[in-house]
Amino acid sequence: MLYKKAILGLAKRIFKITSSEGCVPLEFNGPAGLYIHIPFCADNCGFCPYNKIIYDRDLAARYPDAVEMEFQLQKLRSFESLYIGGGTPSLDLELLETVLSRLRESISGEIALELHPADATPGNLDRIKHMGVNFVSVGIQSFEDNTLRSMDRKRQDSEISKKAMREVMNCGFDFVDVDLIFDFQLNREKTLADFQTAMDYAPGQISVYPMMRFTGTSYSGTRHNPRLELEILEALKNKAAESGYTRDTLWTFRKKEATHRYSSVSREFFLGLGTSASSFNGREFRTNTFSLGEYFASLEMGRLPAKRVISMKRLTASLYYSFWSLYGGSLNLAKTDRLFGRYNPGLKTILAFAVLFGYLKKKDNRLVPTDKGFSELHEIEEGLTYEFIDRIWSELREDASRDSQSASSSAR
Ligand code: SF4
Repeated sequence: MLYKKAILGLAKRIFKITSSEGCVPLEFNGPAGLYIHIPFCADNCGFCPYNKIIYDRDLAARYPDAVEMEFQLQKLRSFESLYIGGGTPSLDLELLETVLSRLRESISGEIALELHPADATPGNLDRIKHMGVNFVSVGIQSFEDNTLRSMDRKRQDSEISKKAMREVMNCGFDFVDVDLIFDFQLNREKTLADFQTAMDYAPGQISVYPMMRFTGTSYSGTRHNPRLELEILEALKNKAAESGYTRDTLWTFRKKEATHRYSSVSREFFLGLGTSASSFNGREFRTNTFSLGEYFASLEMGRLPAKRVISMKRLTASLYYSFWSLYGGSLNLAKTDRLFGRYNPGLKTILAFAVLFGYLKKKDNRLVPTDKGFSELHEIEEGLTYEFIDRIWSELREDASRDSQSASSSAR
């Protein structure tokens, strides 16, 4: 608890969010992943904090050109993976096909797609596979109708969720992840039952995220109960171990024999394209505008659409990198030294205290979180999400809504 407070206090002091206009292309010193955000959804789920707008055929038709323009403004031309998220990127397969046809040649590794269960029909899945998508993450959230209703999921019920899992598992993708959400308010037994149902389909990975109370969502007036959340996580870990799965990252469980990993949130370095997409190159974390109008306008003027930046010096960048590596289950010390400097005393002290207090343990040349360490990381990650991601997203969402109000008043 003290360690968590110290880390959150330090993060607040050293990571500064600034507004950005006229960003230059990001330089990468090594391999990076590509992320593309497609913001269109059929409707709005009350719990959802992501940048999305209700589907509009004309706007969707303009989106691939804008993404391609943003890609052309950046320098990096080859990527070790592509993750596509949203929004609902499986909603408009023509849009998806156009985007992929223009960028596929730049990708050497997996092409991964977030899939809404309602879109997982045999015809759609076949088409998606033919586009070159080989990893999918099915946004199940829950297999239980009351829980889905409490999240305001409108295109989905338990039958659609189960049918989606059968179709996806039959389709022969190289790797399948299932996304679930847990929270003490959504009921511990139901979470465990959801987890069991997911394991019954034998996907390579199951991600179980805590319900975050982002500003402006239907859960924002409620509070976390850290003790109950940790109890649920512990129960999930034990259930996974009995069924051939093992805890892989803070909130994911992977089949013991799995050789792949769906790693949308734990890539080391990545370039993001699209509204609200974030990028990190080891020195700078930046996030694009949430406004689709501003996104189109910036690119038409030949300007990158980044709106918020956290610039990092060597120590801050190494802390950021170390945190996400530990979130991902392991920090390679030799690689950290290579990337951020061999004798970074600030980082070494923080890690040494974490080992001393039993949060981390050394394994070969790596540090890995202990069970106690994962519990601490769970609370630190929630704290950092509210302190940084929720702040950035709220500000950008407000900017976007001001933007669309002024656009509609000048159209009158
Ligand atoms: S949860 Fe997914 S489908 Fe629902 S509004 Fe958010 S992005 Fe769209």
